[in-house]
Amino acid sequence: MATVVMKFGGTSVANIERIQNVARHVKREVDAGNKVAVVVSAMAGVTNQLVAWVKEASPLYDAREYDSVVATGEQVTAGLLAITLQAMGLRARSWTGWQVPVKTDGAHGSARILDIPGENIRKQIEGGEVAVVTGFQGIEPIENRISTLGRGGSDTSAVAVAVALEADVCDIYTDVDGVYTTDPRIVSKAKRLSKISYEEMLEMASLGSKVLQTRSVELAMVYKVKTRVLSSFVAPDAMQPFNADNMENIGTIVCDEDEIVEQQVVSGIAYAKDEAKITLLNVADKPGIAARIFGPLADANINVDMIVQNISADGKHTDMTFTVQAAELPRTLDVLKKAKSEIGHVDVKSSADVVKISVIGVGMRSHAGVAAQMFKTLSEKGINIHAISTSEIKVSVLIDAAYAELAVRALHSAYGLDND
Ligand code: ASP
Ligand code: MG
Repeated sequence: MATVVMKFGGTSVANIERIQNVARHVKREVDAGNKVAVVVSAMAGVTNQLVAWVKEASPLYDAREYDSVVATGEQVTAGLLAITLQAMGLRARSWTGWQVPVKTDGAHGSARILDIPGENIRKQIEGGEVAVVTGFQGIEPIENRISTLGRGGSDTSAVAVAVALEADVCDIYTDVDGVYTTDPRIVSKAKRLSKISYEEMLEMASLGSKVLQTRSVELAMVYKVKTRVLSSFVAPDAMQPFNADNMENIGTIVCDEDEIVEQQVVSGIAYAKDEAKITLLNVADKPGIAARIFGPLADANINVDMIVQNISADGKHTDMTFTVQAAELPRTLDVLKKAKSEIGHVDVKSSADVVKISVIGVGMRSHAGVAAQMFKTLSEKGINIHAISTSEIKVSVLIDAAYAELAVRALHSAYGLDND
C-alpha cells in the first residue's frame, strides 16, 4: 500500500465531465488500496477571471483581499470533486488551506509555505477517506488571513502535501503526457523524457517551460519528493495504479540525477520569449560604473539576467548590454533615466524582439564542447548571438525573435535529441 498525492491542473478539472474523469483516476488508486490525497487547481480560466475582477474593482487593490478572492476557485473544484467521488461510492472530504492547515508567510499573492502539519489529513486517508485539498492557497497564521502561492502554485501545494504525508509519489496530472526535450509544438520530433533531474527541471521551469511551477521543483529537490508529470487525458482504466517498481512506463519522473542511468549530455532545449534587451552605448569605462547602473535596478527590484560588457577600444568608453523580463522594460528604462546623473551621458537602445534559447543538461559538468557546438550550429544557420550566459548545466544565448523556431529545431537535431 502506498501513499499517493495526485494533483490535477485547471484543464483537467475544466467542467463536470472532466471532474468525473479525474474521479475515475482517483478511484483507480483507491481500489488498488492506495491512500490518496488529491490537490486541485481552479477550473480552467477561473483564476484569470477572478484576477481580472480584482483589477477591475481597483487597480491598487489590497493584496489580502486579492488572495481572498482568487483563492475561491480552488474551493469550488475541491468541493465538486469530493461530491463526485462520493457519488461514485468513495469516501471523500474537501480541505481548504486553513483547514489543513497550509501555513504560509505573509507575502500575499506569492506566499511561501512555511509548514504543513500532516496529522489531520493523514488520519483521514489512513482510514480510507480521500482528502481533496485546495491547491494554491494557505493561511497566514499571524493575521489569520487567506494567502495564495503565486500563479501556478497548486503544483507547489501538491509537493508540499506530499512532503507532509511522506508520500511515495507526487503525481502531477496535466494536459501533456510528460516533459519533452523541447516544445513539441515547435519540434515535431521532440521526445518525451522518461526521467529528468531536479536541476534540469528547475532550469526548464525557470526558462518558460511552464509544466511545473519553479517553486514546486525547488521544494521537490530539497525534500527529494519523487514527482511525476503525466496526462489526465489518458483514459483512467488504461493506466495501472501506482506501483513503485514500475513508474517509468508513463509520464516523466523528476528525480535525483543519480537515479538516471542513461544520462544525456544535453537533455533539453528551452526558450523564453519574454526577454528584453537594453544596450547602453558610450558608458565611461572606469571602476564603479557597473554598480551605478545595476544598483538602482536592484533597488527597484528589477531582475537582470544576462550581462555583456564589450572591451573598450579607446580605453575610455564601452558598451553594456543586459536583459530583463520584457514586462519590466518600461520600468527599467525609467530607472535608467532617473539614474542619469550617476551613470553619465549614455545612449540607450532597447528591444523586446529577442528570445533566449538555452540548452540544458547535467552532463555538461563532465563534457566539454557543448557551448561550442551551440555556437557552431547557430552560425551555420546564419543566426547572430547578442548575448551569452552560462551556468554549470546550461548555456543560454539571446537571439532575434524571428529566428527562435529555427534555432530550437537546429539545436534539437544537433544534440541528437530528434526522435526517429
Ligand atoms: N489556479 C491557480 C492559477 O491559475 C493555481 C494553479 O492552477 O496552479 O494560477
Ligand atoms: Mg499549472
